[in-house]
Amino acid sequence: MSLAMSIRSRGPAGSAARTRRVLSRFGPTANAMTRHLDRYNAITAELGARPTWPTTACVLGRHPDVLKRYADGGAELAVHGLVHGDHASLDERTQRETITRALEIFERSGIYATGFRGPYLRYNQATLDVLRELGFRYHSSQAVVFPPRDGSSAAARSTPSYALALKLYSAVDARHVAVTPRLRDGLVDIPVAIPDDEILVERLSLDAVARTLEWIHILDLTHRRGDLFTLQLHPERIPELGDALRATLAEARRRRPAVFVASLDRIAAWWWRRSRFVLHVTRIGSGRHRVRLDADPDATLLVRGAPVGGAPWYGADVVSPRRDLELSTAKMPVVAISRRTPDGVRRFLREEGFPYEISDDAAAYGAHVDVPAGIWSEREVLDAVERAPGPLVRISRWPNAARSALAVTGDIDALTLTDFVLRSWETREQRSNGRHQS
Ligand SMILES: [Zn+2]
Repeated sequence: MSLAMSIRSRGPAGSAARTRRVLSRFGPTANAMTRHLDRYNAITAELGARPTWPTTACVLGRHPDVLKRYADGGAELAVHGLVHGDHASLDERTQRETITRALEIFERSGIYATGFRGPYLRYNQATLDVLRELGFRYHSSQAVVFPPRDGSSAAARSTPSYALALKLYSAVDARHVAVTPRLRDGLVDIPVAIPDDEILVERLSLDAVARTLEWIHILDLTHRRGDLFTLQLHPERIPELGDALRATLAEARRRRPAVFVASLDRIAAWWWRRSRFVLHVTRIGSGRHRVRLDADPDATLLVRGAPVGGAPWYGADVVSPRRDLELSTAKMPVVAISRRTPDGVRRFLREEGFPYEISDDAAAYGAHVDVPAGIWSEREVLDAVERAPGPLVRISRWPNAARSALAVTGDIDALTLTDFVLRSWETREQRSNGRHQS
């Protein structure tokens, strides 16, 4: 983090203390960070996970052999800027130039990157346009803040430094949205969960037990809601948070229905494939409907409120053993969306995997959504559908009947003290260049 950004987000006192802590984590060579990365890798490998490490291209350019070894070993490296700069303040031309150069460094290092994460989780519309133009498959830069668990962390969140972080990240409140990837004009947007490592350790000052509980709490919430938990743990904080990572992954592995634990490139690939799945529901007679899922073998068809002989899954839903079936139900097993409901709700339900018809005849359908024009909340729409008794069919969010998803990510901003010191200088260079563009 550059000095200016650091002071903006924490205030000068917090900045000095943090700088001291961060400096103590890096050494003159890459050895200290290599030990952190090895431990990170060992924890994820032990629990069958593949980490995603968004890496600043300049750092990769200075240490290609060190980082290529991890990529060859299975870690996913994504692009984390050419230098560690604030992309929300850069114009399109500067972003095109710098991200193109970043990709060239990745290519020269023999690493094929499909994803991007903005440093400081910051980006603007130009970032997204450039990523599309350059053929990126996903970006993972939007922070989503989860509500605190009951207890001490709620009080800690009233600190100004916590509020500053949420502002810096322009964080979205998870209480109002579905925390899932979104496919937008060819680019998958994968949200990042807050609190991340930095907030747990430095802003909330939680002890080891409380940090673990906080991540398990997000795992609980995401499992209950079928959401995605993109955990952010910078490799240099493995000494403080390695145990919390192991505990969270182990808990994810125990959950039933299962948690889809995957790197961001796999999550993006899945969301892409899923966007092409189609669930056809047609009337074939009075009180008879044909349901046919046109999808890859790892897609899951969920059914509620109609006997299909499937295994219980979650709540009222069962996993249909067949993809082509007939339902004898008086009501149409799709969502009815009222005529006045805004178009955005339709788009949202389609991406959620619900077939729908436009109708004000609520009684004729397994679920009904009626949203007056104006501001609407994704959670309220989903809650209305969740409360509906059915009959209702749906394409599940995650592959192979998983209930929720977990991605383990950690930005590599520096490998050595030199990288860390150079970062402020490189960022300043980019900022002043960016400003000269119109
Ligand atoms: Zn970073």
